[in-house]
Amino acid sequence: MENLLGYDLSGLASYLEARGEKAFRARQLFRWIHQRGKSRFEDMTDFAKSLREKLAADSVVGLPIERSSSVAADGTAKWLLDVGGGNAVETVFIPETRRGTLCVSTQAGCALACTFCSTGRQGFNRNLSVAEILGQVWWARHVLAQRFQTLPHERIISNVVFMGMGEPLTNFDHLITALHVLLDDFGYGLSRRRVTVSTSGIVPNIDRLREQCPVALAVSLHAPNDELRDEIVPINKKYPLASLMEACRRYVGAAAATGDSGEPGEEFASEDMGWRKWTRAGSPRDFITFEYVMLDGVNDTAAHAQQLAALTQDVPCKFNLIPFNPFPGSGYQRSTDQAIERFQGILLNAGYITTVRKTRGSDIDGACGQLAGEVQDRTRRKDKMALGMSA
Ligand code: SAH
Ligand code: SF4
Repeated sequence: MENLLGYDLSGLASYLEARGEKAFRARQLFRWIHQRGKSRFEDMTDFAKSLREKLAADSVVGLPIERSSSVAADGTAKWLLDVGGGNAVETVFIPETRRGTLCVSTQAGCALACTFCSTGRQGFNRNLSVAEILGQVWWARHVLAQRFQTLPHERIISNVVFMGMGEPLTNFDHLITALHVLLDDFGYGLSRRRVTVSTSGIVPNIDRLREQCPVALAVSLHAPNDELRDEIVPINKKYPLASLMEACRRYVGAAAATGDSGEPGEEFASEDMGWRKWTRAGSPRDFITFEYVMLDGVNDTAAHAQQLAALTQDVPCKFNLIPFNPFPGSGYQRSTDQAIERFQGILLNAGYITTVRKTRGSDIDGACGQLAGEVQDRTRRKDKMALGMSA
């Protein structure tokens, strides 16, 4: 059975053409699935019975299986979705007054092993398929439609951020197809500035994203020099800061060159992520959002802030400071409020827009870095870590 959730519009057109159907049917089918949220062919009422039967013979709209869900005191919702083989991934919805942000996962686990991240500690099993990535959006909207009955469907999830489990740029092809569906007017119809990819810094794929689908980019920096970053974001050994800063400059530069600076005065992305009302003066691709987790005594001194301001001076950017969210056995502490304020003050003085991310959903382990899901680790990271510790 083919899972039609895994196709963008052109993929669906080829799929139908191969079955002797007119390509324009793809648009109808696409809208049934993504806009109207239907998964059963018999509900697609403007299709002839023969077409519905033909589709049902060898394809499905295969939805994720919900293992559990929870809602935090602040309204943040989290789903644990089964992806087979003993693996499950997490998806989080963060409601705000004027927008709703869905945080999606791209991998079961993560191979990059940042030391302060719960997902990284789980090890890695595999990339999610396109259908598994989009299934999170489909499912969340389906469930949320019941919770927010008065809101039109398309307003419930106004923003999507790839900040759940996994490193989106190491699941590149699937990410791109999923982005097409999110941006497609016949799919979820989100503007580029309402879709954010967060990466720990896979330099060649930052360039590929720029060429193929330049949505808003957040880069997880977390350290102002290679020595410290090598330690807490190990992928830095492969793509050190100088090369990462160059890739960021290229990303922004290309965006400016397109002259597409978005609709005037529209709010976009999440204020939590440090983005505000933005005008024609800039679009999300006109700057990078640098994320910086605040770890007590590790990366949060005044000297670190000054070094950071110097490192990024040639990159149009904003900072979003993320107070560390604890998880069992992390070994780290959140920076004190004073340390965070001091850090923010130095960046603000240096002329950078700098916000501190509000912690949402921590009572259901739904905050940044707390997503663990269930991962059948193929990297044996936990074993290696246990060995390392005892040695
Ligand atoms: N792999 C991607 C996207 C997922 S993580 C990336 O690393 O960017 C989303 C953000 O949460 C990243 O900035 C990540 O570094 C941060 N994060 C990870 N663990 C955290 C923790 N325990 N507390 C706060 N933020 C954390
Ligand atoms: Fe992976 Fe991102 Fe966690 Fe690092 S912070 S281990 S890249 S999910």
